[in-house]
Amino acid sequence: MRLGIVATGDELATGSCVDTNSAAIAARLLELGFETERIVVLGDDEEALAATLVDLSARCDAIVVTGGLGPTLDDVTRSAAARAAGTDLVLSEAALAELREWWGRSRRPFPASNERQAWFPRGAEILRNPLGTAPGFQCRVGRALVFALPGPPREMHGMLESEVVPRLRAAWTGGESLSRAGFYLFGLSESAFADQSGAWMDRAANPLLGVTAKGGVLTARIVARAADQRGAAALLAGRAQEFRERFAEWIFSETDADPAFALGRKLIERKLKLAIAESCTGGLVAEKLTRVPGISAVFERGYVTYSNRAKTELLRVPESLIEKHGAVSAEVAEAMAQGASESSGARLAVSVTGIAGPDGGTAEKPVGLVWFGLSIDGRASSVERRFAVRSRELIREFAANTALDLLRRNLPAERDAGG
Ligand code: AMP
Ligand code: MG
Repeated sequence: MRLGIVATGDELATGSCVDTNSAAIAARLLELGFETERIVVLGDDEEALAATLVDLSARCDAIVVTGGLGPTLDDVTRSAAARAAGTDLVLSEAALAELREWWGRSRRPFPASNERQAWFPRGAEILRNPLGTAPGFQCRVGRALVFALPGPPREMHGMLESEVVPRLRAAWTGGESLSRAGFYLFGLSESAFADQSGAWMDRAANPLLGVTAKGGVLTARIVARAADQRGAAALLAGRAQEFRERFAEWIFSETDADPAFALGRKLIERKLKLAIAESCTGGLVAEKLTRVPGISAVFERGYVTYSNRAKTELLRVPESLIEKHGAVSAEVAEAMAQGASESSGARLAVSVTGIAGPDGGTAEKPVGLVWFGLSIDGRASSVERRFAVRSRELIREFAANTALDLLRRNLPAERDAGG
């Protein structure tokens, strides 16, 4: 079953409104095993919409259109669908009566232009819209089933569930079933991931593995297809287990895309108190960690020590150490973490000090160089990372996520827990 999605509206084609409808429809229908072949965004243009419907009808079994069902002249979906189907518009007396009744209930006079909403392509089935005035409809263009839904996301969602999903299910039973799993990884580049995945990522593979990257976090998705749900689930389970084994070192969650949640949950569960000392991330690590509900039980405090003086005054980093090694160094990173742990009394501390750019880099210490310090039960260690991106924002984002991930990897062994 191949699906086409069309979002219409001048506000979408001019960039003043983002098309969220198409993404929501594609995601929801994929859950049911219907794959979207393409998504098209169009202005309010009857001819372009009609041509798009004809074009999609040659490659898709079903098409969902959103928008353009209102009462004004820029609402062209009804006439475009009629044109694509090679038919005309006819007035639905039943729909007109419903519209009049809706307006009657709101005790307002029926505006003449609303009558436009009661005209549908000949032969179309009208789809009820309990959340608004614009009814949708279903018709055929060529061999493709076309569903037209209103643009406002709330109305669209309601009708997708109540009208479209049951009809798609009824029209395509016994097709392929799909089963999916997701994994979140940190510390691996997209290309290294691809190298290690090998044939799992071949476009024709089943199960098929896909990956996207953001802020150092890789999101891996596995989709398995089979004749029925049980077959798909079994196929998926096998590959998911192999995936877990191969990528064990980097997987931090199968549910949370945010490394802060993976760490935060563990800290809360094990009652491990934490302090954070930040220079180049300016509080971003603390900001991310405090997104986790309940983190107050373990997050003791964060220090934003941007200046050398702050590092000395608040974290007791010796001035001489900064002078000798520079603020961006293993020695200072470790001293920051130790100082944060000691002055807060927290069992764990992590520190970040680096060069976010765009200025301030040297050949020896380039932009993107970041040192991380850890203090775990009084033992200090440090890790160096060189982020090869040029953007200050991205370097800070990578650095903050790296700090959270480092801490997660270095939590004290379980048997020591309880302190
Ligand atoms: P319409 O049904 O064309 O009158 O759309 C009414 C309103 O719904 C628009 O002004 C947008 O605010 C919203 N809308 C329409 N299409 C979309 C879409 N694809 N994604 C998100 N919002 C939309
Ligand atoms: Mg519109």
